[in-house]
Amino acid sequence: MRVLVTRALTPRIETILRAEFAAEFRERDAPMTLAEARDALATYDALLPTLGDALRAEAFTGPIRAKLLANFGVGVNHIDLAAAKAAGLAVTNTPGAVTDATADIAMTLLLMSARRASEGERMLRAGGWTGWAPTQMLGAHVTGKRLGVIGMGRIGQAVAKRAHFGFGMQVAYASRSPKTLDVPATPLPLPDLLAQSDFVVLAVPATPETHHLIGAAELALMAPHAHLINVARGDVVDEAALIAALQAGRIGGAGLDVYEHEPHVPPALIALENVTLLPHLGTATEEVRDAMGLMAVENLRAFRDGTPLPNAL
Ligand code: NAP
Repeated sequence: MRVLVTRALTPRIETILRAEFAAEFRERDAPMTLAEARDALATYDALLPTLGDALRAEAFTGPIRAKLLANFGVGVNHIDLAAAKAAGLAVTNTPGAVTDATADIAMTLLLMSARRASEGERMLRAGGWTGWAPTQMLGAHVTGKRLGVIGMGRIGQAVAKRAHFGFGMQVAYASRSPKTLDVPATPLPLPDLLAQSDFVVLAVPATPETHHLIGAAELALMAPHAHLINVARGDVVDEAALIAALQAGRIGGAGLDVYEHEPHVPPALIALENVTLLPHLGTATEEVRDAMGLMAVENLRAFRDGTPLPNAL
């Protein structure tokens, strides 16, 4: 079974893939172009693709040999699922493996944004620290504050647990469907959640419905001291509107792990002090990347063996 692995993976996962499949690895550790995607779909039995690979609708219009896209990652917004299915491919992902690590990065960003951690470190490294002072770099207190989670799925709930049980935060959430939760949390319509939260965390998938879910109108509903944290996908936020809100001080700050046109980060965002910028670190630990790889491998094995795919979408 010929498998194209589109990016370098951890040593443990590459060893398994080489032992069990006729696996080939792309040499460039960058997203597949459309031309590469078309070629790969015509050449291999299965692909192990990931974030940014150009598996949009046009990729599926040529000759197709592949029958499976075993995606590495839970987010599949780089794959046109309808086009893939119409072309006879199954698509799987790696839910669950990413949850805790991504929730940890949401809390990292929330704390860094609230406590001005990036700004303080930049100041210190630039030699600008003159010593402790009672009114120096005062940030926002986190304990006991109100958290609004948008997208109360696996990651949203993991963030809610950390915030409630770890920081005594009062949690509200905006969701499409009713939830049975093991953390106290109040459902609210999105406008109410935006208006009432001290911190807003985005944990929805990127879909046509969530594109620019947070734009100028939604940012205007947020309190002037409130912080927006995005660990979902960049295009869930209208980045230009966010930059305008941050420049004007209409919200207290933002913590971002993802960007609308990543890896491009607008210079206007980089120039701002009231935003914390991480390079899409949500799942970036060896253990989690191993766990994601093992889930993708299980899907490849099931496909090879003709058994039900564990994580079919
Ligand atoms: P999940 O369990 O499917 O949760 C997503 C939640 O979003 C679901 O509860 C869903 O509601 C909700 N939702 C979807 N559309 C919505 C809308 N229009 N309005 C309100 N809520 C909506 O997925 P997950 O595992 O938590 O992952 C969420 C996303 O995080 C992924 O799709 C991925 O893009 C992103 N992610 C980022 C990183 C990173 O490195 N930064 C890492 C992992 C994942 P229902 O329950 O009603 O379906």
